[in-house]
This record gives sequence, structure tokens and C-alpha cells, in this order.
Amino acid sequence: MDVCETCGAQFTERPEVCPVCDDARQWVPEDGQRWTTSEALAASRDHVVRQDGAFEGVGLEPGFAIGQRALLVPHGAGRLMWDCVPKVGEIEIGELTGIAISHPHYYTGMADWASEYDCPIHLHADDREWITRDDPHIEPWDGETLDLGDGLTLIRCGGHFAGGTVLHVGDALLSGDIVQVIPDRGWVGFMYSYPNLIPLPAASVQAIARALEPYAFDTIYGAWWDRIVRRDGKAIVARSAERYVAALRGELP
Ligand SMILES: [Zn+2]
Ligand SMILES: [Zn+2]
Repeated sequence: MDVCETCGAQFTERPEVCPVCDDARQWVPEDGQRWTTSEALAASRDHVVRQDGAFEGVGLEPGFAIGQRALLVPHGAGRLMWDCVPKVGEIEIGELTGIAISHPHYYTGMADWASEYDCPIHLHADDREWITRDDPHIEPWDGETLDLGDGLTLIRCGGHFAGGTVLHVGDALLSGDIVQVIPDRGWVGFMYSYPNLIPLPAASVQAIARALEPYAFDTIYGAWWDRIVRRDGKAIVARSAERYVAALRGELP
């Protein structure tokens, strides 16, 4: 399988340039598209399985592409994998009940994980055009929320991607890149493109805040190890959205 070195997307048939990177939200390296293969990736990276806040997570060492880690969230008789990493397998993580992914930048190795654990992949249908490797385990969902049972709810926030999704469970919000955990843990960020610094319009940021309004949560887990807001998550999202929209109006903090 061909794998884009910049974003980790997989392709059964390699295009000239990775469409996920040839987009204003990503970038193609200055010296041109770089490819690797799943075999080369498997040989050069190890899995890291460790605790990240209240959840166990799975990452790669050394890091690869965007460098996100996945989280394993207790669900039924097993665990749901939240977000995904490009290399599958060879680790003891028990049963996976499913895989849910915040947005296309983290689709990466989802087809391999779903085949290995024979579980569904929950992706928001609004982002289906970004699926670079189709797979029968993919179950697109429509609308604003999806109740996965056992207190797990997927919430479509949009913003960074039209189908941008977060996972609410207990007092935690697992937010991928949709609500961004930033160095100042008293605030969060929102962007159309993080690497290229393209902000979101006010209406999109207000829509994210509105989508999260009905849910109580204290902690927020971003997409990388240790990116955790440990308290007051809900109030932090609300005031961060207000600060962002004020800044867009020219009222800098
Ligand atoms: Zn790419
Ligand atoms: Zn992203």
C-alpha cells in the first residue's frame, strides 16, 4: 500500500499528488510529493501504548506524518478506537468495538485496523470525498449526532472539515483537530488550516460552540500525547469561541 509521508493517507492506486495534502489545509513539500509504503512504515516504526489522562492511547515511535495518537475508549465488551494511526497491529489491546475518526487527516490506517479487528469505521458522510482507500468496514453517518451506546456520542461540529466530529464520553470531550488544545490550557483554538494559518469564519466557530452547548464536559483531549485540558473544558470552549469571534471583528484580546 502506498502511503503519503506528509499526512499518512493510504492509496491502493498512487496518484501524482496526495489530494489530502494538495489542499489549503495541508501542504505538498517544496521538493515534491513524498511516498512511502505500509511495509516500509511497519519496518521503521514501533507502536507505543501508554496512558494519556484517563485513557490508554496508541502512537508511533518515531513519529510519522502528522504525529497524532489514537485513544482507546471503553465501549461495551471492548474499546472504541478514537482517531487512528498509520501502522496496524502487533500489540495487545484486546477487542475493538469500532473506530471513530474526527476528520480526514487521521483516516490513515483505518482500513487496516478495521480488517485486523473486524469492526466498523464511523465516519461523517460529509467528508466521504476525502476517503483515499475505500473499505467495506466504513459506515458513513449523517446528521448532527450519533449515539454509539454506553454513553459515547459522536457530535458533528464542522469547522476544520464539513464533517468535523468530536466524541463525548462521561466528563471528557475527545476533539481531534476540531477543537484544538493549545499551549495555554485555559483556552482552545479553531482553524480551517493549522499549518497554513487560515482562520475559520465567525459563523463556523459559533456553530462549534452551539453544537457542544448541550453536553457537560470537564476535560478535553486533543490529537497528540499530553494535549489535555484538565478542567473547566466546557467554559473554556465557550469563552474561546467568544474571544475568537471578537478577534475576527478586530477586537484583539
Ligand atoms: Zn497526504
Ligand atoms: Zn486536521
